[in-house]
Amino acid sequence: SPSPVTVLGLGAMGKALATAFLTGGHPVTVWNRTPGKAGPLLALGATAAETAAGAVAANELIVACLLDHASVHETLDGAVAELAGRTLVNLTNGTPAQARELAAWAEEHGITYVDGGIMAVPPGIGTEQAFLLYSGARDAFEAHRPALERLGAAHFVGTDPGLAALYDIALLSGMYGMFSGVFHALALTSTEKVPADAFGPLLADWIGAMAGGIPHFARQVETGDYVNGVVSNAAMQAAAFGNLLRTAEDQGVSPELIAPLQPLMDRLVAEGNGSGDVTGVVELLKR
Ligand code: NDP
Repeated sequence: SPSPVTVLGLGAMGKALATAFLTGGHPVTVWNRTPGKAGPLLALGATAAETAAGAVAANELIVACLLDHASVHETLDGAVAELAGRTLVNLTNGTPAQARELAAWAEEHGITYVDGGIMAVPPGIGTEQAFLLYSGARDAFEAHRPALERLGAAHFVGTDPGLAALYDIALLSGMYGMFSGVFHALALTSTEKVPADAFGPLLADWIGAMAGGIPHFARQVETGDYVNGVVSNAAMQAAAFGNLLRTAEDQGVSPELIAPLQPLMDRLVAEGNGSGDVTGVVELLKR
């Protein structure tokens, strides 16, 4: 039968997590700093604990989804006695360094620690679109995998507890880079009243097509080979990029979201890598 779970934090995401466990048949104990947030979960069969320590004491698996790293310590520093011997899966967004700090803190107190990153919005939890990244204590992750898979596909990325956060932050960085380009594109088209219905789908299709190259980029960075099979060399791209900046200026749009790529491309070319792929800028960023 589905194993019992404690969920700490009933914000938009915590509520979605608790709901997914409950609809999967798991007995769920919940706690939230501000009381009175468990309403709809109680109707689904959840038990509300009055204190974080009480919620921790109820079950072996503790899932935390709070605002940030500081709120995790604020909630759990007073519950280390209850946490000892149990598994903490922390799905609060944080940095790799914060995850490693929490893993060391957990080890000191005899707590098994798994860090996690949620790659979904709350309505996506428990659907096919959701996936979550996990790192840290592998055996505990495997033991609780059936419960964790209620939330979305579960990817264990390594025993270094900082890795899930690194993947998570890297994925979000890719997303925000994409958003930056999209915001700039929409600022440009809105200067000429281009209809959203005409342009939005084109932009989405274009980005989808270009995203198809990402696995190849990743292999280029892994091998350090930016030259094999180049079809759009960096010197050409650096020259064309100037037109992006000139058009922004002509249309009265600030180039600030896209401008930083130009000097990097120029440096790549100046250093003699103009015939290679523009992915070579990754080497400049790593310096
Ligand atoms: P909300 O703002 O909806 O909820 C924040 C939660 O954190 C509340 O339960 C709040 O309790 C609690 N909290 C804040 N500060 C403290 C504290 N000092 N001590 C104890 N509890 C505290 O955020 P979400 O639920 O959306 O996000 C939760 C986590 O999930 C974040 O780390 C977020 O980055 C991550 N996430 C969210 C996604 C999303 O789209 N929403 C997507 C992927 C990850 P109270 O009710 O008392 O204020």
